[in-house]
Amino acid sequence: MKIPFLNLSPTNSNIGTELQRAFQEVLESNWYIQGAKLEAFEQEYAVFNKTTYCIGTSNGLDALHLALKALNIGRGDEVILPSNTYIATALAVSYVGATPIFVEPDSRTYNINPNEIENAISSRTKCIMPVHLYGQACQMDLISDIAKNYGLYIVEDNAQSQGASFKGRLTGGWGKVNGTSFYPGKNLGALGDAGAITTDDPDIDKFLRTMRNYGSTVKYHNEIIGFNKRLDELQAAFLSVKLKFLPKWIRERQQIASWYHEALHEIGDLILPYTLQGATHTYHLFVIRTNNRSKLQEHLEKNGIGTLIHYPIPPHLQEAYKDLGYKKGDFPIAEQLADTCLSLPIYPGLTQNDIEIIAKFIKSFFDKDKN
Ligand SMILES: *Cc1c(COP(=O)(O)O)cnc(C)c1O
Repeated sequence: MKIPFLNLSPTNSNIGTELQRAFQEVLESNWYIQGAKLEAFEQEYAVFNKTTYCIGTSNGLDALHLALKALNIGRGDEVILPSNTYIATALAVSYVGATPIFVEPDSRTYNINPNEIENAISSRTKCIMPVHLYGQACQMDLISDIAKNYGLYIVEDNAQSQGASFKGRLTGGWGKVNGTSFYPGKNLGALGDAGAITTDDPDIDKFLRTMRNYGSTVKYHNEIIGFNKRLDELQAAFLSVKLKFLPKWIRERQQIASWYHEALHEIGDLILPYTLQGATHTYHLFVIRTNNRSKLQEHLEKNGIGTLIHYPIPPHLQEAYKDLGYKKGDFPIAEQLADTCLSLPIYPGLTQNDIEIIAKFIKSFFDKDKN
């Protein structure tokens, strides 16, 4: 029996008829860029996220890049972000010419530690970018208070956490401008690249619609030096179909997580995901930690269980960022996470039986370890 790390069949093939109808509609419309499907999805996603506006983009990284652009963040500015995140968060900061300033995560939630943020603020700081990592909402109340006290913007990286909330308010709805990703493996995934920006600010909405479309609102009239970072009709149509299922899929992920929690209770040195009071967790990833990570991963691989590491190298130790001058030991919590984390399979369609099989192999690994 094989359990792959990710299987998109339950969220794509099983709704194939609806997706094919969406495809057919776009095909027959003969209109493939900036049309009715994009407009419809943007409205639906804004309603889902309880924000006034949603602007579709080509992918999540472009959404974050444009969000920072909209706030006029650039050369000489500093942006605070967690030291353990996917590289895209840092790249968006680099694209606008600003400097990423890393802040260590809380060692229980793996999300940026609000108590460490103030130490990182300087006269150049313009913005805080919280990342709701693995699907758990950050402590947005404390982060918002700090931002307000220091006059900083918040740009949420909501790529892993559509539908998560902190104290009842949805992620992607706290910051001035926020970015999310619909990469196929995300909780809401397109059938290709796609992303979106959410905001309540009408001027920013207008600016971003222009910016993503060659800096143009009237065809062949270019007001600013813009980009081509649009979300196409086909992906928008697929996303409209899939958005209706998202709440159900999130509940399935949460159910799978609770099966894992039951089955993996007190085994070896395993550390299981911890959800903070007030936060919800949409379980984009189910990340466990152990000091025996590579051997456990090997053992699971041998037994047909796919796992991945999110992420093996924190941004400050990436070759791409060597010019920032960081070295090993600068962000010990992020580095320890990178050395010990292991993501187990989690996606709609996994059964309790699947989780018990995975847990059985994890237990057998640690039992063997004892002898
Ligand atoms: C996936 C992801 C992104 C980037 O999204 P793309 O659509 O792949 O460009 C950004 N930040 C985080 C935290 C992500 O997980």
